[in-house]
Amino acid sequence: MSRPRARTAAVVGGGAAGLVAARELLREGHAVTVFERSRRVGGTWAYDARSDPDPLGLDPAAPGAVHGSLYASLRTNLPRELMGFSGFALEGRVFAGDPRTFPGHREVLAFLDAFAEESGVAGHVRLGAEVRRVRPLGQGERWSVEWRGDAGDAEEVFDAVVVCNGHCTVPLVPKLRGIDNWRGNHLHSHNYRTPEPFQDQIVVVVGLGASGVDIAREISKVAKEVHIASRYTQDRLGKVDIYQNVWLRSEVDCIQDDGQVCFMEGSAVTADTILYCTGYRYHFPFLDVDDFTVDDNRVGPLYKHVFPPKYAPSLSFVGLPSKSIVLQTIEMDARWVARALSGRAELPSEADMAAAVQEHNRRMEAAGKPKRHTHVLMPGWAEHIYWLAAQVGEPPLEARRRNMYEKALRCIWTMDERYRDTWDDEGGDEQEEEEENKGIE
Ligand code: FAD
Repeated sequence: MSRPRARTAAVVGGGAAGLVAARELLREGHAVTVFERSRRVGGTWAYDARSDPDPLGLDPAAPGAVHGSLYASLRTNLPRELMGFSGFALEGRVFAGDPRTFPGHREVLAFLDAFAEESGVAGHVRLGAEVRRVRPLGQGERWSVEWRGDAGDAEEVFDAVVVCNGHCTVPLVPKLRGIDNWRGNHLHSHNYRTPEPFQDQIVVVVGLGASGVDIAREISKVAKEVHIASRYTQDRLGKVDIYQNVWLRSEVDCIQDDGQVCFMEGSAVTADTILYCTGYRYHFPFLDVDDFTVDDNRVGPLYKHVFPPKYAPSLSFVGLPSKSIVLQTIEMDARWVARALSGRAELPSEADMAAAVQEHNRRMEAAGKPKRHTHVLMPGWAEHIYWLAAQVGEPPLEARRRNMYEKALRCIWTMDERYRDTWDDEGGDEQEEEEENKGIE
């Protein structure tokens, strides 16, 4: 192989993805500038007590819209061992005085701060620098990055752009049948911070993912009733044994004329609040690129969720997929990008990458999966990590970590909050439950 090529790379975003992307790019000999629009690194993990003026948060460009989606009490849903980077673990070191296996958000933020400093990435970050427009020059041999900082607007040219702007900010809110009849409160989990506003209320939580479970449980301590609506509850419908006032319902069928929320299984409640824990949509307002769309939350075309075939490797996306060991997937994406840019990882031809994307989409359709699940790695999340590891010559995911992740999913699904404090570090769990992949929306 010829000598690795060093490139100039702009990284959009200084969250976990942007930081580890910068580290990998620097390790590979590239010159890196990280643009971060807020005043600190850490992205999502910088808890923001504010919420959007619109409780549904539908317009990310609205004045006062916030980036963060964490609630005040949030603890990680994965054990520390699954939340570090190679060579810089969250395990075995305490960063903000919270040594728990499932630490609170401050611990993760302090970990990311330390990672930025100790890896040398911090010196490459521009804070208060919002990327406003990214466009290819020529066929994408170079990239124009227009950004706004304290000193005004500027434009710079880079060989490559790595997009790491996060994907847990812009709510995905399903349009419930009859929602126009709804006169109560509603909000998306993006804007949930504390349970107090739900005192004595009847709350319908839509969605049974990790946040839905956490939030429903927290609200149940003050609310009169909590009803969780999900397509994954068919075999568990009814009151949840371990709670006095929590019911699992099937999906919401409709909102009746009188405002009652009706569930598919035939029951109905008169609720005060609908709280959507229904995930997020991808949003790249700064990208000015041909042949690239976000359609029903399918970003693409993207080869292996990272490279648009037309512009690979000079344009890339790190951290797009969900439902995996997030930080590990992000790190693998980042290493692949760094090596593809230097020429040490070879990509297929544009046509072959495009064909692979089409094939992926065709298989999804054949399996009856909706477009919006394009970047959901379940159930093949581990195979995806194996595949990425192979691209960058890393050993495959250890069985122990795979077991640990699957065990964490099962724990979430039990809805019993004690799992975080009774976790057995061995990770392995011989109990095979079918539920392991299905309740995680
Ligand atoms: P972000 O952290 O969102 O960072 C993106 C950054 O880009 C932000 O700093 C933003 O300001 C910046 N940015 C955006 N647009 C621009 C622009 N135009 N110009 C410049 N900068 C820009 N993961 C786990 O591993 N374990 C967990 O327990 C876990 N729990 C979670 C709980 C919740 C409620 C949520 C929402 C997420 C959770 N995650 C968890 C996933 C989490 O998103 C990832 O861990 C990780 O933070 C993703 O990092 P990111 O860099 O992709 O995005």
